[in-house]
Amino acid sequence: MKRVGAHVSIAGGIENAPLNAAAIGARAFALFTKNQRQWKSPPLLPASIEAFRNNCAKGGFEARHILPHDSYLINLGNPDPEKLRRSREAFQDEMRRCQALGLELLNFHPGSHLNEIGVDGCLRHIADSINLALEGSSGVTAVIENTAGQGTNLGSRFEHLAALIEMTEDKTRVGVCLDTCHLFAAGYDLGSAEAAEETFREFDRVVGMQYLRGMHLNDALHPVGSRLDRHACVGKGKIGMEAFRLIMRDPRFEEIPLILETPDSDGWAEEIAMLYGLAEEDD
Ligand SMILES: [Zn+2]
Ligand SMILES: [Zn+2]
Repeated sequence: MKRVGAHVSIAGGIENAPLNAAAIGARAFALFTKNQRQWKSPPLLPASIEAFRNNCAKGGFEARHILPHDSYLINLGNPDPEKLRRSREAFQDEMRRCQALGLELLNFHPGSHLNEIGVDGCLRHIADSINLALEGSSGVTAVIENTAGQGTNLGSRFEHLAALIEMTEDKTRVGVCLDTCHLFAAGYDLGSAEAAEETFREFDRVVGMQYLRGMHLNDALHPVGSRLDRHACVGKGKIGMEAFRLIMRDPRFEEIPLILETPDSDGWAEEIAMLYGLAEEDD
């Protein structure tokens, strides 16, 4: 089954996330497990955790359909030792929050070299960060997101993702989330069914489809290769509908969270229904 959802709000308590997802007809969802713009958040309360788990069960959401996203403050490749330590500590806390919630994935952006170290050195920092996080937690997979390649962010090339996986000791607990807008911005074409097929073939060749744990379904405001991370509603940007039609009809993308991070949250219910419609269209 295809599992389309959106990155939903946790306002009023984390237990509201599965309710917000169910309300828009989602079969998957993404969330922050804390305030994503602060370094520290109070621990989750046992009552909140229990309510979250109950609401997930009621909504039919299993752990593999839920894709928590880490804080935007974290840079696991930070060249500055003190800042790197702070990022690793915060990431560890996020891994443990996922564990406490009974979740099994944590989606994060690899990191940025900030023009202070080389790409290889930065990838080494990130891989060490992943290894530390996996050692300090259990049952949660570190899910690396591909990036648009904006600024000094790593992760826009499949080769970066492959290198990180290669350096991760426990390969059973590392995975990838592919964001369609980021792919396109990074120069991987999705503008036609053929182009999308070729991009996924290249991903399989360099990284391996078996590592795919989730996707972010976003159209892109700017043309292929722009390196600009600007999301558009599905079918309303430069990617257009063909790549999304392919994803919705391809069995390789079943039972993983397919998450909208598109700009119009009021339109999500309709966007989700439209995507499910693509899966059911006749040839
Ligand atoms: Zn992200
Ligand atoms: Zn983005």
